[in-house]
Amino acid sequence: MLRSFFIQTVGCQMNALDSELLDAELRRAGYQPAESPRRADIVLFNTCSVRAHAEEKIYSALGRLKNAKQFNPRKIIGVIGCMAQKDRQLIFRRAPQVDLVVGPGRLHRLPLLLRRIADGGGPCLDVSADRSAEKTESLLGSFVPFTPLRVAEHRPVPHQAMVRIMSGCDKFCSYCVVPFVRGPEQSRPAAAIVDEVKRLADAGCLEATLLGQTVNGYKYRAGGRTVALADLLAMLEPIEGLRRVKFVTNHPRHMTDGLLQAVRDLKKASPYLHVPAQSGSDAVLKRMKRGYDAAAYREMLVRIRETVPGAAVTSDFIVGFPGETEEDFRRTVELVRQARFKNSYIFKYSPRPKTKAAELFDDDVPEAVKRRRNNELLAVQNTISLEDNRSLLHRTVEILVEGPSKVALKRTDAGESIQLVGRTVCDRIVVFDGPRKLIGQIVTVRIERVEAFTLFGSTLELTE
Ligand code: SF4
Repeated sequence: MLRSFFIQTVGCQMNALDSELLDAELRRAGYQPAESPRRADIVLFNTCSVRAHAEEKIYSALGRLKNAKQFNPRKIIGVIGCMAQKDRQLIFRRAPQVDLVVGPGRLHRLPLLLRRIADGGGPCLDVSADRSAEKTESLLGSFVPFTPLRVAEHRPVPHQAMVRIMSGCDKFCSYCVVPFVRGPEQSRPAAAIVDEVKRLADAGCLEATLLGQTVNGYKYRAGGRTVALADLLAMLEPIEGLRRVKFVTNHPRHMTDGLLQAVRDLKKASPYLHVPAQSGSDAVLKRMKRGYDAAAYREMLVRIRETVPGAAVTSDFIVGFPGETEEDFRRTVELVRQARFKNSYIFKYSPRPKTKAAELFDDDVPEAVKRRRNNELLAVQNTISLEDNRSLLHRTVEILVEGPSKVALKRTDAGESIQLVGRTVCDRIVVFDGPRKLIGQIVTVRIERVEAFTLFGSTLELTE
């Protein structure tokens, strides 16, 4: 009987949540986590398709397990997540040592499929229907949101939790594979979300992060009533023990005044808004099919600043999108300078099969130009982030202590006082020395030194 499993996860928070839920499901089914892929009876790669580089890394990792599979043919190797949905049979052809390919809309079937393979049923492919070939109604039964019941003892971090409130996406931005690999947009019933967050809070969760590809487009209709994200935040507000509610990722078109007022008025709603702009050029935004222009994005920023003063706004940008001229790029730099984001995640364009951008446009910006634009935009953003963080010097902030810092994790000394890391309500990272017992607590820290991405401080007191 196969007993141990190892899940290697790459990609976004959706994947991190899927892996956490799957880990709990497998434990519930009687499997135990293993320390490494080599020691595990079952190895699962939870994959990402946003960049070609991330996919190639998975194929390399699969290659490294070839010998282990030859040595132990009963070892099960599986590929799950976005690349599984996108590449399907191709994975078996490129990596014949793989036994199992399961898309993100089919994860609920994984324990059953593992048993089938262990009983000699042979390789298994379970993916959702092809979005470009089927109608939305028939697709819904094929992309099943993965929302098993949370079990407190199987949660990795009791004080924080990601909670899925939506799955899929209907926006079809021209560069993005998400609508194809994660299927149609589906909002989860509000009552189920409230119930899940209540259970998490009862088990000690202080901070819930609500997840959706376009989270601020959340809309659940039942009994003649529509619950939007602002309503959902209000429904979560009275939950005892819960202290913070974050939500990612927002789409500029759904940043309504009602949502901003909810963030302003509700004590637990975090004034942290991740709203990707992707470009500051109207021509590029149009080719990206983002559904807004730079003026509309700026207008949204003004509304955010007016309604929620002090909110931390962050963004994503793609540089080197097909046809991006130097003038287009200057407009992006100008937007970053004006917007004063807390930080921006900057990516070089990488064409993805199935997408409109890959089909219609040549990837015509040379790699060296993409790299230069990436570095330049990063430098502009880093200067702003550092200036922004400087305004917090010698001030006190409240943070939720998440655990040991990266430095502490590398050290072997098991002293009681170690370097810890936590986050402010606006998602700023704070590092400080303190006793381990502070992990999972909200504490007040005085900021003594700042860098662009990190604040350094010393603890003053437990907040409660
Ligand atoms: S909004 Fe656009 S970029 Fe975001 S997941 Fe949907 S298609 Fe992809």
